[in-house]
Amino acid sequence: MTATLNTPVTPVTDRTNRLTSTKKGGQMVADYWEDLFTARERGKQIVWYNGGALNPIFQAAGVAWCHGEAFAARLAAQGLEGPAQLAGAEHGYNAELCSYSRTHLGCAVLTVQGDEGINTGVVGAHDQAELASRLPAPDFFVNNYAGCSTGQQWDEISYRVFDKEVPIFNISHPFLWGNKPDSGYLKGEEWESASHYVRDQLLDLITWLEEKTGNPFDWDMLRESMTYIKKAAELRREGLELCKAKPAPATFWDWISAIAPINFLPGNQELVDYFQSVRDEIQDRVDKGISGVENEKYRVYFDGIMNWNKLGFLSRKFAEHGVAVLAGRYITNAFWQEPQLIDTEDPLLGMAQHYLLCPTNHGTKTLDYLTLRDCEEYDVDGIVFHSTRTCRAFTGPQRLLARSAQNNLGIPSIFFEGDVADASFYKEEILESRLAAMLEGIDVKRTQAS
Ligand code: SF4
Repeated sequence: MTATLNTPVTPVTDRTNRLTSTKKGGQMVADYWEDLFTARERGKQIVWYNGGALNPIFQAAGVAWCHGEAFAARLAAQGLEGPAQLAGAEHGYNAELCSYSRTHLGCAVLTVQGDEGINTGVVGAHDQAELASRLPAPDFFVNNYAGCSTGQQWDEISYRVFDKEVPIFNISHPFLWGNKPDSGYLKGEEWESASHYVRDQLLDLITWLEEKTGNPFDWDMLRESMTYIKKAAELRREGLELCKAKPAPATFWDWISAIAPINFLPGNQELVDYFQSVRDEIQDRVDKGISGVENEKYRVYFDGIMNWNKLGFLSRKFAEHGVAVLAGRYITNAFWQEPQLIDTEDPLLGMAQHYLLCPTNHGTKTLDYLTLRDCEEYDVDGIVFHSTRTCRAFTGPQRLLARSAQNNLGIPSIFFEGDVADASFYKEEILESRLAAMLEGIDVKRTQAS
């Protein structure tokens, strides 16, 4: 299964008014990857990791870092995932396997083949040069994946692709079931004990990195980096709060464009300046009544991981219908979303807590609480569920959330199929017809209420 088997795409009129400040983030991310591609030449050791944002620890350990999901998402956003996925398929990975992991494992296969100077029958030398040979081979693997068994095994499979010769460190995350009497979001014995359990493993990781790199860990660097990240996260939260205004000054798609900077760029003043400019542009729009989509008519919550092949297309599609897509589990409840938890003098506990707060690591009780809270606060008319075909971790609870939103808040919802990094799963006709039907239903409800 490849990205070349796309369904026909209906052209849409562009009624978006995307933030201009997020473009700077795109350049920062492009510079970051260019820097990583040449890290080996600058004598850096390189870690491949997955899951929660361990980059401040790698920054303080003096190693360069490659976040597997981020690299897969970047390739998909650029339409370059095909060769890696073909290499993965040729190696034996099934098309139903998570397309993030399939892409990145394909890169691992290509990297190994590139090192050995072998060309496969499917993936030509040009593609290898474009993709895998630009991604430097790892010196270490670190897995930090919460809430998804695929994610937790992903680096172990990469470890096998590299003939078990690259050291690996796995962090174990308890799933937050939330079903004890005192359990709740950010509270209860389960939350406290899981937080300390993960924090202790971060200490072990730091010791492991010191052994493997031969360098002492720079604790001052970690505190400094987390000070910048905390400030950037606070500005991001302020911006998200401002988007509750009517009309919404910016949308889910703007925040999707701002994910990479908060997820894996180094903690520094440039990161803070970036989120300051995003927040200030949104404030300016609120002050002037400027909206993120032309003639906002509907407000919608989006649940599901991003379909990276379709980011621009989907933003235009919803705007064409006058739909402002606002909050979503993937932006509102992920990526350093609770900066008040971070003690910059002693940041490990707050970092561990954020890793546990991965939006696939909660039982339904907490997910229900977060979804209903955000739907009410952003005053949405409906929910669009991206039924992310190869990501069961995200899609698992979606039917329960849809039913709860209907029963508790009277909010309708639709489902459409797509995927994180495999465009062939996207079904344009299904989204278009279901979205139109939901919006018609909202119109009828409004007419009856008036
Ligand atoms: S299945 Fe979903 S949560 Fe799991 S590794 Fe893939 S994208 Fe991440």
